[in-house]
Amino acid sequence: MAGNGSSFLGWPVLRQLASGDLLGRGAAVTSRRTRETEPRTSTADRVVQSVCPYCAVGCGQRVFVKDEKVVQIEGDPDSPVSRGRLCPKGAASEQLVNSPSRQTEVLYRAPGATEWQRIDRDTAIDMIAERYLESRRNTWQELDDKGRRVRRTMGIASLGGATLDNEENYLMKKLYTATGAIQIENQARI
Ligand code: SF4
Repeated sequence: MAGNGSSFLGWPVLRQLASGDLLGRGAAVTSRRTRETEPRTSTADRVVQSVCPYCAVGCGQRVFVKDEKVVQIEGDPDSPVSRGRLCPKGAASEQLVNSPSRQTEVLYRAPGATEWQRIDRDTAIDMIAERYLESRRNTWQELDDKGRRVRRTMGIASLGGATLDNEENYLMKKLYTATGAIQIENQARI
């Protein structure tokens, strides 16, 4: 008899009057399921501050963790950059973390091959480093065609993405400049 829909006292109009919800848009029309639902943010074990990985704005995020798994990501009110806000893309970051189609392994497609193969990360990094050094060796210019010292390579170029943050861009530019690469660009400037 206590159920809202099965007793006289459960009549919607009485619920509206009893709860003060005269327009029937609040407590009077809230289902039991809604009342029993708890936000993931209130049941998390801990909250970790982070930065949205999607673009160079770098909005602050609060990452809610339960049982060592990310369960929710929201804007961080303490961030001077975004003051608690996230755009729709940043607000969907939890899907980036937990998507079943997330790529978590390095895939390599050899020249001429039609299939990808899985390789471990250390192997992939070694392969990139070898190619980088080989390109530099093969395209190194000590002097230009007028005999001026340039000490550079035009065989290496970099196009960074707008998801790279300040620290990553700093390290990349430092590496490229130290190795004589001068064709450095970023998506955010194009
Ligand atoms: S929340 Fe949106 S605007 Fe902010 S860093 Fe992420 S993608 Fe960029």
